[in-house]
Amino acid sequence: MEIKQELVHWYLQNQRSLPFRDSRDPYHIWISEIMAQQTQIDTMIPYYLRWIEKFPTIDSVALAQEGEILKAWEGLGYYRRARFIHAAAKKIVSEYNSVFPQDYDSIRSLPGVGDYTAGAIISIAFNKPVLAIDGNVIRVATRLFGINTDPSKRSTIDSIKGKLTPFLDNDNNYILTQAWMEFGALVCTPKNPKCIECPLSKYCFAKTNNMQSSLPISTKKNQVKDEFYDVFINTSNDSILMSLDDSDGLMSGMYRLPQMTQQVRDMPPDYKTKHVFSHKVWKLNIYHNQIDLNQDDWITLKIDELKNVPIITAHKKIINKLLK
Ligand code: SF4
Repeated sequence: MEIKQELVHWYLQNQRSLPFRDSRDPYHIWISEIMAQQTQIDTMIPYYLRWIEKFPTIDSVALAQEGEILKAWEGLGYYRRARFIHAAAKKIVSEYNSVFPQDYDSIRSLPGVGDYTAGAIISIAFNKPVLAIDGNVIRVATRLFGINTDPSKRSTIDSIKGKLTPFLDNDNNYILTQAWMEFGALVCTPKNPKCIECPLSKYCFAKTNNMQSSLPISTKKNQVKDEFYDVFINTSNDSILMSLDDSDGLMSGMYRLPQMTQQVRDMPPDYKTKHVFSHKVWKLNIYHNQIDLNQDDWITLKIDELKNVPIITAHKKIINKLLK
């Protein structure tokens, strides 16, 4: 069997049962692909199921308030993704009469949809012979074909496209697209790829040359930096001070507790905690009713209202600990 047949055979035998795989609806595939960016599949599945229940159609997304959209996304992080979905849904309603567009250029022009997502939607939902090259596919292709250039460069992606284009399938491309991705997720994994059981091992450059751990080549390390803040939980009776500050551009439209750059204070914090993002770590000193804040600088909410508004995950954990 050739590579394509081996891969498809493997996929049909070994694919995971995932809720969005039961559907070829472009709306479902779009939401699942956006959620799966920067989020583990196991983590995003309950979000995906809740989202589809709350927003069963593109119209229901377009008609929702931004606060509802962000609330449904609360905990997934990278909230720009949710705002893009909201904007794209409005565009589909106004420009495409609420019908998901079926050509690549129109899909690619939707807010938040890049080459990969457009390729995934058009190949999986509409079975068009278009490639969808995500991190999994890059890893498989660079190892399989011995591509040793920087995978973040356009020229490397073009090389990968050149290698994978002959495998495109006019009849069942929706299977092939998912097979490449699933194979990268389950067999040709970043660490300890399962070469011994790999059905493609006899074709594989990396396996033949013992280069699995050096492909794809690593060009830059993620620089994770620490940031230090004081966070204030100021409650009185049934109210709490909150903020919609977005001066760091991270999570606009999301509520957060008052937070300021850390400084030496007369009293110790109630406790310390941290919140890890992909590119930074917030190290937080938490003060509960220890520091007077000028109420006019903040938003006063009823504590009961907190369950209805979107709150950044770092601070939601702090509030939940307080209310427990
Ligand atoms: S042999 Fe190993 S490195 Fe090559 S494709 Fe299979 S799992 Fe990946």
